[in-house]
Amino acid sequence: MAKAALLLFRCKRSHGVNATYQESGDLLSNSVLNCLLLRIIIILHSMAKLYICISVDWEGEHFKNLHDLAHLRKSIGVDTPVTHFICPSYFTIKDKQAVKKIESILQPVDEIGLHIHCYKSLIEAAEVEFRTQPNYYHEPLEVLSGVKQLMGINGKVSGRGVPLSAYNYNEIQKIVRFSKKLLIEKLGFEDINSFRAGGWIATDEIFNIITNEGFEIDSSAVPPEILSNGYTKESSGNMKDDYGDQNGLFTEMVLKIWGYQKQTEALYENLLFHAANNHVAINRKSQPFQIGNILEIPNNGGLSDFASVSKTMRPVFEHGLEYIEKTGQNYFMTIGCHQEGGYEFKYPLLEFVHYIQKLNNKSVEFVRISDVPELMKMNSNNLRTSGSF
Ligand SMILES: [Zn+2]
Repeated sequence: MAKAALLLFRCKRSHGVNATYQESGDLLSNSVLNCLLLRIIIILHSMAKLYICISVDWEGEHFKNLHDLAHLRKSIGVDTPVTHFICPSYFTIKDKQAVKKIESILQPVDEIGLHIHCYKSLIEAAEVEFRTQPNYYHEPLEVLSGVKQLMGINGKVSGRGVPLSAYNYNEIQKIVRFSKKLLIEKLGFEDINSFRAGGWIATDEIFNIITNEGFEIDSSAVPPEILSNGYTKESSGNMKDDYGDQNGLFTEMVLKIWGYQKQTEALYENLLFHAANNHVAINRKSQPFQIGNILEIPNNGGLSDFASVSKTMRPVFEHGLEYIEKTGQNYFMTIGCHQEGGYEFKYPLLEFVHYIQKLNNKSVEFVRISDVPELMKMNSNNLRTSGSF
């Protein structure tokens, strides 16, 4: 009886009625096979998940807002994993408490990746000559002398806004190698495999170098449309982020690096990305894809200084849910904030994470950036490119 019950299939979709089949087990009709196939497809679909990576970019500048991050880290739950992209210049500014301060935030489920902003102390510690141009970052007023401020002259460049691509190949190699080693030594990790360029500015040279330095994952790609709402192939958009703020040269750089136009100038060269992504700009729907040996995991949900819940985080999330239901394939979104950012810049991220947690949707799971390659293998078409659906 039990066997007979197991072999009782009901299939509404393929017959339009509630047809019932009882088989002896020796002979399966085509209809029954169709039903089995349908059930297998349904099971596969139900396994697909929307995976969310929460990332924090540590700029390497200061710890003035660390208490905000401590609050955020606790508030999202210590069992929810976070990937910390850390710039090791905290150690070259000789803050003796730096290791302790960073470790006070890290939870056992967390992981670290390398983030590089070209601060003077870090560049010089790597035995490279410091450069000051181009500089997309508006230095805090306190670093300028009164006279220079009045004259509109930026008297001091910290290096935070000088992209890594401002340096030549040998210099970048020295900076990356030194930074990785320093971060590993100070925080006591065995290895670091994930990278995010400061300002999301990762050029072809940088991809070649991080490949040679043993990285396997990059998460520098960001949608230009977050920095310039309305950005398309035909339009450069309004040059304002989700909050209506203008970010000047920084936005121009991001549009060049991750946009529709091919760039050949070393500062912005993006031919590897272009070829790998079928010449489509990174956008809010972009999914992980290979750039040579590196798995690029786009920061498609942006960082909450620029990306809002209503214009980016929630639409990406809703698109992801729709996508996994339609295709039965996993979907990935990466969101985050800055360690140095004030609470008002971290709050949208926290609000969004709490919203997701309250939904308690079993198809949604928070993972670390380094979990993504394995999860990608579960997709039959694991080299999907952005904007293809
Ligand atoms: Zn950064």
